[in-house]
Amino acid sequence: MKIAVIGGGVIGMSCALHLARAGMQVSLLTEKKLASGASGRSLSWLNAAGPWPDHYYRLRMAGIDRYRTLYRSNPAVDWLKFDGGIFWSDEDEVLAWHAIEQRRGYDSVLIQADDLNRLDAAIVPGAVKTHGIYNAGEGWVSLPDLIAHMAAEFSERGGAIIEDAGKTVPLIDARGVANGVTSARKGDYACDKVLLACGPATVQVLAGMGISLPDGSVLSMLAITQPADSRPAVVLNTPRVAMRPNPGNTLAVEHGWCTDDIKEDEHGVCTVPDDVLQQLLAEGDHVLNTDSPLKLAGYKAGWKPVPADGFPVLGELEQAPGCYVAFTHSGATLALIIGELLGREIATGELHPMLAPFRPGRFQSP
Ligand SMILES: Cc1cc2nc3c(=O)[nH]c(=O)nc-3n(C[C@H](O)[C@H](O)[C@H](O)COP(=O)(O)OP(=O)(O)OC[C@H]3O[C@@H](n4cnc5c(N)ncnc54)[C@H](O)[C@@H]3O)c2cc1C
Repeated sequence: MKIAVIGGGVIGMSCALHLARAGMQVSLLTEKKLASGASGRSLSWLNAAGPWPDHYYRLRMAGIDRYRTLYRSNPAVDWLKFDGGIFWSDEDEVLAWHAIEQRRGYDSVLIQADDLNRLDAAIVPGAVKTHGIYNAGEGWVSLPDLIAHMAAEFSERGGAIIEDAGKTVPLIDARGVANGVTSARKGDYACDKVLLACGPATVQVLAGMGISLPDGSVLSMLAITQPADSRPAVVLNTPRVAMRPNPGNTLAVEHGWCTDDIKEDEHGVCTVPDDVLQQLLAEGDHVLNTDSPLKLAGYKAGWKPVPADGFPVLGELEQAPGCYVAFTHSGATLALIIGELLGREIATGELHPMLAPFRPGRFQSP
């Protein structure tokens, strides 16, 4: 079977690879370069923390499981680690999250200021005022490195990667069935099935097909520091800063409070004021046990894909049989499991029960 995947982020790349492993003839077309969308500016904390419903929790846990398998085969890489996560927020939220996590059997331990030095000496003692949570099973990944890793295997298996294809959309025949894709710069490609994995642009591509998908995507940014003297090994989520290690002894830093200050121009270019970036790094300095302030190497800003109800949208479109969609938040944690399960559905036509709650049809009025 010939399959076209539109979108060279982590979701498109993972699905393309799993389809190639299943023996499909796959072409991945993407507007610019691989990893030039949300996957190129993601905190990519691998986690199933917090008060999500059970079906979503299970999908995320399966996502982490597949990363552990990948890690076992690649224990020496500098772009995937399982050194745990530390979270703190206001006391009520910490206690509520911890109670939910314990009930589910998620590895969750309440910690206090005294515990920080023992868990990660790079965090300033006393940064946690009351309680925090230590989640030993969590990790992080650098998505551009993961995408390059998957792209290498995909190419070895005969998959075609077509970068700089410009805007690409599914072609639909007179019966309403997907039968190819057309790209602005690399022409048309006939195929049996199409997967749309355009990150935050998925909603606009669907709108062009007359299909509406409620969108909750938000502007976001990720800053990368220069090599830092003191780096926590854990992923840190705190009230004013979130950060994780990044290849090259650098740190990846972000936080939701910065998003109000992101400006997007008429060409879709997003910028963050310098004082906001400096403030974000200063928040990082407050939690790190070092006298050397963090220095900015660069940042990227743009839209983060978020379906309106917060849950992944995965599966075949009823309005365009043969055309599948994958649109999700937490796509770092979910990338490998979505690639595996959705890839199998596309290859075999057999629906996987774990994806049942996440079908695109849930937004259609009855
Ligand atoms: C700041 C930030 C923090 C995050 N933190 C986490 C986290 O801690 N944990 C977690 O699990 N997830 C996190 N995420 C979410 C996760 O990174 C995303 O869900 C994931 O990267 C989405 O991947 P994607 O492939 O769907 O989209 P993208 O990476 O955006 O890829 C889509 C690609 O499609 C291309 N494209 C778009 N339209 C077209 C078109 N018409 N034709 C051809 N190509 C097209 C784009 O150029 C892009 O390269 C975070 C995201 C951000 C931005």
